[in-house]
Amino acid sequence: MKEGIHPNYQPTTIKCACGEVIETSSTKKDLRVDICSKCHPFYSGKQKLVDTGGRVDKFNKKFGLGK
Ligand SMILES: [Zn+2]
Repeated sequence: MKEGIHPNYQPTTIKCACGEVIETSSTKKDLRVDICSKCHPFYSGKQKLVDTGGRVDKFNKKFGLGK
C-alpha cells in the first residue's frame, strides 16, 4: 500500500442531537449529526424521530453503520 494516496483517516467522535456519541473513524474531526442509529425507530423501537429526506440512510452510508 502506498502512502500519501489515502485521506487522513483518524479516530473521531460523532455527536448526535439526541446526545449519543459515536466513536468511529473519519477524515473529519468532531462531527455533529441530527440523527443517528440510536434515534432511528428501527433501533430504538420508538417513533421518536421521523427520517425526513433519507438522512439516516445518508448517515449510515457515510459512516458505514448501516448494519
Ligand atoms: Zn441520535
